[in-house]
Amino acid sequence: MELGENQIKRYARHILLREVGGEGQAKLLDSKVLVIGAGGLGSPVLLYLAAAGIGTIGVIDDDTVDLSNLQRQVVHTTESVGGPKVESARKTIAAINPEVSFIAHNERLAADNAIDLVSAYDLIADGSDNFATRFLANDACYFARRPLVSAAILRFDGQVYTFKAYQDGNNPCYRCLFREPPPAGQIPTCAEAGVLGAFCGMVGSLQATEVIKELLGIGEGLAGSLLIIDALAWTFRKITVKPDAGCPLCGEAPEIRDLSIHER
Ligand SMILES: [Zn+2]
Repeated sequence: MELGENQIKRYARHILLREVGGEGQAKLLDSKVLVIGAGGLGSPVLLYLAAAGIGTIGVIDDDTVDLSNLQRQVVHTTESVGGPKVESARKTIAAINPEVSFIAHNERLAADNAIDLVSAYDLIADGSDNFATRFLANDACYFARRPLVSAAILRFDGQVYTFKAYQDGNNPCYRCLFREPPPAGQIPTCAEAGVLGAFCGMVGSLQATEVIKELLGIGEGLAGSLLIIDALAWTFRKITVKPDAGCPLCGEAPEIRDLSIHER
């Protein structure tokens, strides 16, 4: 792909980076990323992926913008309150970078659409706010053989990780770390426990950085690692996580062979 004059100007600060260059930028322009959730994490991810010139960005979310979202969900504006989140995201992304081809999936990720949806993209970024979706995204990306860059946040704690368990090497899946969703009510949601809006922006930016690194294949990724950020203490810890031979999805004797366990 030859970059046009305007593209060379728009992406000049990327192209200057030895690790990106014109070739890397062309790769980003040719990439397709699906973002799960246009919320606290999905918002900064969407903004930075659009600005970075990811050629095709899809977003799946069936929610509407609520006034209480605006404290952290920076892809939405006050004007969008009451409207579908995917349409609000479409408007903002078009304003940032009209080059991006945007695909709105105004639905929930479910057992019957997950494989088709994730298969249509090169990489999935999960910023969903619930365990059911996080486990479903993990399982679907494993079966569809798509890298999954996932992040989670609660109060002042954030985590970022990448899963490529379909590949050989030190590649655990989400279930290697957390076997199954915790019982309902055991871990509070952001709606119950709160979250610092600016910190969502930070964790989402880390997630977007990891997405871009994965697409370009540069540096050290977070596959096989768990990045844990504590915004009160200001500690960043990167711990190694290993694949679990007993994992019901990617282990030696898998029990999960399709997405039927997610069917309601
Ligand atoms: Zn696993």
